[in-house]
Amino acid sequence: MSNNTKQLAADTPKYVTTAIVYPNSRIHIGWAWECIATDWLARGYRALGFPTRFVTGMDEHSSKVAKAGEAKGLGAQEYCDQMAEDIRTSLGKIDVAYDRFIRTSDADHKRVVSRLVGKAFERGDIYKNRYEGYYCDGCEAFYLDKDLVEGKCPHHGTAPKWIAEENYFFRLSKYQKDIEKLFAENPDFLQPANRRAEVLTFVREGLRDFSISRAGQSWGIPLPFDEKHVVYVWFDALLNYITAANYDVSKEDGGEAFRKIWPASVHVIGKDITRFHAVYWPAMLMALDLPLPKKVFAHGWMNLKGDRMSKSSGNVVSPDDVLAIANSDQLRYYLLAENEFSGDGNFAYELLILKVNADLANDWGNLVNRTINMTRKYFPGESLDFKSSTPNGTTHSTEIRESFAKLPGELLTALDSLDPKAYAQACAARSRILNLYIDRMKPWALAKTATPESLAELREVLYTLMEGIRHTAAGFRPLLPNGMLEVFRQLNVPETEIGKVEWGQVGIAPGEPSPIYPRLEMPKDPETATAQT
Ligand SMILES: [Zn+2]
Repeated sequence: MSNNTKQLAADTPKYVTTAIVYPNSRIHIGWAWECIATDWLARGYRALGFPTRFVTGMDEHSSKVAKAGEAKGLGAQEYCDQMAEDIRTSLGKIDVAYDRFIRTSDADHKRVVSRLVGKAFERGDIYKNRYEGYYCDGCEAFYLDKDLVEGKCPHHGTAPKWIAEENYFFRLSKYQKDIEKLFAENPDFLQPANRRAEVLTFVREGLRDFSISRAGQSWGIPLPFDEKHVVYVWFDALLNYITAANYDVSKEDGGEAFRKIWPASVHVIGKDITRFHAVYWPAMLMALDLPLPKKVFAHGWMNLKGDRMSKSSGNVVSPDDVLAIANSDQLRYYLLAENEFSGDGNFAYELLILKVNADLANDWGNLVNRTINMTRKYFPGESLDFKSSTPNGTTHSTEIRESFAKLPGELLTALDSLDPKAYAQACAARSRILNLYIDRMKPWALAKTATPESLAELREVLYTLMEGIRHTAAGFRPLLPNGMLEVFRQLNVPETEIGKVEWGQVGIAPGEPSPIYPRLEMPKDPETATAQT
């Protein structure tokens, strides 16, 4: 591996976020995919030396949420408290290690929203007006006639309500030119490219001011200049990214901690909310004179049997369903290594089992197992390192080292382009290279020859394999946080040595090997696993 991945890591910290989730249903595999991918991103950046902050959370101030609470005989806050516990428990089971789980009912968020909405109002970017139009409760969004499909919401297929009321509006139209300029000057602002094309079409149709308040509703954050209104759920929710970046309302510029971490490196979102994140959100930030996020990445749906998962159709798989047949690492690996994050995925138990058996049980499992067993057999009780094996190295191990020297660069490219599949492929390719190295070098034959030269070469081959395994495991770790720790344990590599990128500086004395990813068997009836609701 290259001498120093720190050279790759600039001082700029990374700030990565998921969309915050509505607490109105159990989390399904689609949102889990987004959280796991963002978790991979945060872990991957950290492993390469970038200081990183990762935030996810819950979007609470929706009238749907208040209704869902009522249906259970709970107040909105009480209902959200319960749901927050459930969601955090679910995220824990799939090893989503956020730095903060933000809730829009958190006290600091209420202060930030109040301050920033007040600021936009003082600057004249928020004004009072009468509104009439179609409103979808499901989307919590207004629609124009032309947006509706046969009179129904394009996302929910339900008929929107006609609403007429006095509201406060955000002057989005004022930012038409600025938003066009943003897209013209930053081709990578919104990815992938097909999402960009859709949003540009929307922008070119002309941006219209949008309502940012709801009257006669008590669940929400009151407007600081008119307490009869609460802030519209979307306006409130988008500002979570600012709150979670430690914005200090007592400081005109948000304070030092905030300025250090903001703007976000990337907002990871689902493709249905690109408009909010790639148009409304940058305009809001422009109104507040705050820097814009560097990137918005809109991933696709995780479909089931070719259709979008949705609670209403009962076509839903939850992480808990999958965890009944696979562990967290296996679920994470399947979601990230098998599916294109930029497009739609297709969840299937058969594909999950094939993928984890091929890459993790066969390629990787056999590599680790064979290498540890041979090392213990041929050099019992010894700690190996490259210096004591062959000081200069020979051609065959040099090739392996050269391949590993390229790994950190490939991993960083995959992280920056939000491509967990390419990231996994870079690691899986190393696992295969090391397996081929065993086949080519035939350590058992070197041991049998048993001359001083062949034994020196055997030592070099086994050390090269173990160093390769250590580096591959370090690469895999953001995808597979549990199993890779077990690999380091079996290699007897202490926690402090895991991140060492220099080749040949870590003494390795493997202990007892045991399979890390046993083969998965197809459940007798995978349908039963998906039947839970
Ligand atoms: Zn809708």
